[in-house]
Order: sequence, then structure tokens, then C-alpha cells
Amino acid sequence: MIETNLKQIRVRIDAAASAAQRDPADVTLVAVAKTYGPDAVEAALAAGQRVFGENRVQEAQGKYPPLKARHPDLDLHLIGPLQTNKVKEAVALFDAIHTLDRPKLAAALASEIARTGKRPALFVQVNTGAEPQKAGIMPDSADAFIAACREVYGLTIAGLMCIPPVADPPAPHFAFLAEMAKRNGLAHLSMGMSGDYETAIALGATHIRVGSAIFGARG
Ligand SMILES: *Cc1c(COP(=O)(O)O)cnc(C)c1O
Repeated sequence: MIETNLKQIRVRIDAAASAAQRDPADVTLVAVAKTYGPDAVEAALAAGQRVFGENRVQEAQGKYPPLKARHPDLDLHLIGPLQTNKVKEAVALFDAIHTLDRPKLAAALASEIARTGKRPALFVQVNTGAEPQKAGIMPDSADAFIAACREVYGLTIAGLMCIPPVADPPAPHFAFLAEMAKRNGLAHLSMGMSGDYETAIALGATHIRVGSAIFGARG
């Protein structure tokens, strides 16, 4: 079932990329395995999937060390909020962090990267809907924050990430994020989930974060 789902999603990624005159190889499928056990991840690995997403540091710490030992090319992305007191663990475990959204976190990441020499790919999360309860830098502060990440903290920023408000059509949020990335010279866009990844690909997504369409509805 996981293998079949992955195959179908790859077909749809190829079609969406082709329709947008994009190379499907420029779209990375991040398989979001949160709440699913190592068996589900193993099934996806057996089907050729190598990039995985988790939203909690602690859950990932319990799950991935043995999987990474068996599959050294497993690429693990943090897509959930990161507390500064978990930065050490996150930099040790994750190959990419999609949720950089405040100066304090930028400072903590910069010092841990300098200390360890480990350099996870960093995405700045933008709260494109300006929702008060949601993580992400507010849109009107984002350009200045990206500049500070680079100039004040010396971080290399790979791209931008957003999670549109559930009640909104996602396309305007994706287009807004793409425009912001372009203006800031950022090549990567983490946007699109199970319900809207084709729309995200049409608008330039380079990383789509897909969970339930691969692993099934979370309980
Ligand atoms: C859970 C999650 C996803 C995947 O959501 P699905 O709807 O299951 O595809 C994507 N991004 C983030 C940040 C998530 O927490």
C-alpha cells in the first residue's frame, strides 16, 4: 500500500511538473512519517523513497538512528517547530530544518553549526496567513529576517517554507512565497502537502511535504 501510494504520487509529481514545464527531478518528495513507526519508514525505503520528514525532534530521535545506520543515504528533514533547547539534538540528527522563524533560533543554530561543522539545509518558515497562533516569521518581517540570518548570523539559507491557513485556497500563499524567494535570491520552496502538492508544484515548489497520501490517515 505504501509502495503503491508512492508510485501514484510520483506519477502525479511528474505530470504536475511537466504541465508547469519543470523538470520533475527538481521536486523533492519529503515523506512525512510523523506518528508512523519505523516499519512504515522501512516500507517506504524499500520502495525507493529516501527523504523523510518529521515534526518532532524527540519522536525522530527514537525512530531514525537505527534506520540511518541501515540506510546511510536516508535524508531527514525537520518540518515542525524547533525549540532552542533542542537545537543541539536537531543539528545532530536532521539534514534539513524547514522551520527557522526567529532571531533567537537563528543564533542558536549558528553557534551549533559553528561548533559541530554540521550544516543542515535551512529554510525560513513564513507565516503567510499572518495567523497569530501559527509558527513562522510574519510576512512583513520576513525580508529583514532573511537578511539578518545571512548578515548577522552568517547562515546559508536554502529557501522558504509555508503552511497556508487551512481555510484558505493555498495558491495565493504559494505564489506569495515564490515571489518572496525570488526577491531574496532563494532557490528552494518547501510548500504543498497531501491535498495541494500539485498546485504547489505549479507555483514552483522544490520540496513537497506529503504524509497521509503516502502512509494513510493519522489516527
Ligand atoms: C504533517 C505535516 C505535513 C504532511 O501533511 P499531510 O496532509 O499528511 O500530507 C506537511 N507539513 C507539515 C509541517 C506537517 O506537520
